[in-house]
Amino acid sequence: MFEFAKPVAKLIKELNKLPGIGPKTAQRLAFHILEYTEKEVQSLTEAIIEAKTSIKLCSQCCNLTDMDPCITCIADNRDKEIICVVEDPRDVAALERTREYKGLYHVLHGVISPMDNVGPEKLRIKELLQRLEGGQVKEIVMATNLTVEGEATAMYIARLIHPLGIKVTRIAHGIPVGGDLEYADEVTLARAFEGRRSMI
Ligand SMILES: [Zn+2]
Repeated sequence: MFEFAKPVAKLIKELNKLPGIGPKTAQRLAFHILEYTEKEVQSLTEAIIEAKTSIKLCSQCCNLTDMDPCITCIADNRDKEIICVVEDPRDVAALERTREYKGLYHVLHGVISPMDNVGPEKLRIKELLQRLEGGQVKEIVMATNLTVEGEATAMYIARLIHPLGIKVTRIAHGIPVGGDLEYADEVTLARAFEGRRSMI
């Protein structure tokens, strides 16, 4: 049976670990990279290393950033009285594409999922509660995905925040049940935001 030279097999194996990259695509990418000039390879590896070393979590919103606080948290034109809580940095990007929302964000970095051994302590919930201590925030929009875990996480956080006298709303309209925010089109996402309802 034919086998790739070891370094090629290793490259294919690494690429195959990436999400959405099956064995065939991994092979195609590996051979594409092998046709790169040394300079192109260097540029690719440098971009990976630089992204990994310079990107951190914003100490306020926990989104990925290369400066702390991040550009969204310090922007003058953002409404500091409203925080939209999402699962993942990709959801911030999706909501920003709608150009409708002008408040702040908070990234949980996951959802409560007992099946995967993820309890609330593994999410950035403590950081969210700290942000509410100043009393400036008037509304929290729970924009976790409309999955069982997303709903349970939204409810868990709503119950923590409700006693503080802060309004907690949930996006709803338009996003299919079980749907990921990331894959919703901009109009649907903007409508889901407009149609948010009180949670408790
Ligand atoms: Zn931030």
